[in-house]
Amino acid sequence: MRYDIAIIGTGPAGVSAAITAKIRGKNVLLLGSAALSPKITKAHRIDNYPGLPGVTGAELAEHLRGHLAALEISVTEAQVGAVYAMGDWFGLQAGEEMLEARAVIAATGVVQGKLLAGEDEFLGRGVSYCATCDGRFYKGKTVAVIGQSAESPAEAEYLAEIAQNVLYFPTGGGTPSARDNITVINEKPTEIIGGKAVTGLRTEKALYGAACVFVLRDAVMPDKLFPGAETDGVHLKVDNEMRTNIPGLFACGDVAGKPYQYIKAAGQGNIAALSAVGYLRELDNNQ
Ligand SMILES: Cc1cc2nc3c(=O)[nH]c(=O)nc-3n(C[C@H](O)[C@H](O)[C@H](O)COP(=O)(O)OP(=O)(O)OC[C@H]3O[C@@H](n4cnc5c(N)ncnc54)[C@H](O)[C@@H]3O)c2cc1C
Repeated sequence: MRYDIAIIGTGPAGVSAAITAKIRGKNVLLLGSAALSPKITKAHRIDNYPGLPGVTGAELAEHLRGHLAALEISVTEAQVGAVYAMGDWFGLQAGEEMLEARAVIAATGVVQGKLLAGEDEFLGRGVSYCATCDGRFYKGKTVAVIGQSAESPAEAEYLAEIAQNVLYFPTGGGTPSARDNITVINEKPTEIIGGKAVTGLRTEKALYGAACVFVLRDAVMPDKLFPGAETDGVHLKVDNEMRTNIPGLFACGDVAGKPYQYIKAAGQGNIAALSAVGYLRELDNNQ
């Protein structure tokens, strides 16, 4: 099945884009966490969201989930590994599946912190951002997981079913449930090392052998997720209509630049959806 518009991310930008695209009658695929972005759910108190003074993040998430439900928009829980422009449609790699959409809206948030030394150099040669996509290549081996997202513990447990050993470095989220072949190491990773491929992970205290380092963040750098898209590093470059340099690919929210604010993200989600609707209309008219 080919969707009209795939939206990646369930923060305020992605939710807003999905609402507008659905209202405009489009067949929408909303990808991300059904619990919505941790940047919403974890906010203690929000004072600058119009109409909801002093709302907590948990309450805002409840409102947003309710709005999605009222419009019968479901969230497909998947981590997108890469988005490939195929001409007048896109292929979205989600785990072992390749999903298709005619237009894509990136609402993936912003990557915080610096890349680890060696991360860029070994990407695809033993550095992975997706356990579901790449875990099977490391059957019977030792892998390291740098767990920075809420989903990381579950991803590590999945890897433990395939790999011989999982070395888990909790750098943000929680820790996986106890298993014989998962070792939780509370040390700060500093460098991914290797030759032709990854051979290990160095921390501030020791060197650990590993055939792959899974770096599991809430978001990955946009140039890795959207090959061919222009970026300024952590942001996709967009114009006022939220268009990127790739026809049919739009971006909104934190991934589209500062300021990092809920209402700006939601506003840009609305613009991106309207622009995507206009793009699809043009495609249809030119056929
Ligand atoms: C502690 C804290 C407090 C804040 N307080 C305020 C405040 O009071 N007021 C305010 O205006 N702003 C506040 N902000 C900023 C606000 O949280 C962000 O600007 C806003 O969440 C950005 O929304 P977004 O939709 O662009 O991205 P996000 O909310 O970051 O959502 C992006 C989502 O996309 C998902 N995603 C990323 N990559 C993929 C992928 N490949 N596949 C599937 N899903 C993916 C992520 O997991 C995430 O759920 C706060 C931020 C923090 C951290």
